[in-house]
Amino acid sequence: MIRIEIITIFPELLEGPFSHSILKRAQQKGMAEIILHNLRDYSDDKHKRVDDYPFGGGAGMVMMVEPVFNIINHLRSQRQYDDVIYTSPDGELLSQPMANRLSLCSNLIILCGHYKGIDERIREHLVTKEISIGNYVLSGGELAAAVITDAVVRLIPGVLNDETSALSDSFQDGLISPPVFTRPATYNGWPVPPVLLSGNDRLIQQWRLEQSVERTKQRRPELFSDSKQ
Ligand code: SAH
Repeated sequence: MIRIEIITIFPELLEGPFSHSILKRAQQKGMAEIILHNLRDYSDDKHKRVDDYPFGGGAGMVMMVEPVFNIINHLRSQRQYDDVIYTSPDGELLSQPMANRLSLCSNLIILCGHYKGIDERIREHLVTKEISIGNYVLSGGELAAAVITDAVVRLIPGVLNDETSALSDSFQDGLISPPVFTRPATYNGWPVPPVLLSGNDRLIQQWRLEQSVERTKQRRPELFSDSKQ
């Protein structure tokens, strides 16, 4: 069971991703609890402000310390958290090993930034981990939080129907997945590889491994050299 609490100024943005398919099922089965908090509810300001002009001038707004301090204090008064994550383009790049590690946590907070970002003092004093989902800039942290949550929750034992399925995904063994096919065996004159129809499990496993190795060498040579170390 993992509990992920997401702090955002746009909770509606995150309602969709968590109410379908595997993430929905994980919550229904009680394996994951995903809770959305609206940061504005924690603003002491009468207009519920959460952002202000940057000191020193310049374009864009900055998310203020106070509401974030209020909510994190409030959440921490109720339970201990393994990490307070801030989604940030300059954070550590999300990877499968990182998702594996996070899936062992019990309680996580994910803070979504907006505008020019968040007051640096939040990062210095309240955040314990910063994660980027790639070397590009999004307009807000919500989609990044959805990506992190999806990558983590599907790893919780029992969430995927086939227990082995997450383990055979790309990156888990330093290799990317082999190609997959389903019926019909020939479509439009395009046949599937005959070995898959052979019924010979040993040959099939061998073929899949060869394909994985070949694809990794071709498409992700850096993974291949990493897995050899
Ligand atoms: N001015 C900042 C970008 C702000 S983008 C900079 O150049 O670093 C607004 C918010 O979107 C950020 O606070 C962060 O929470 C989120 N965000 C943007 N790109 C992201 C990425 N690649 N990974 C994770 N979060 C990201």
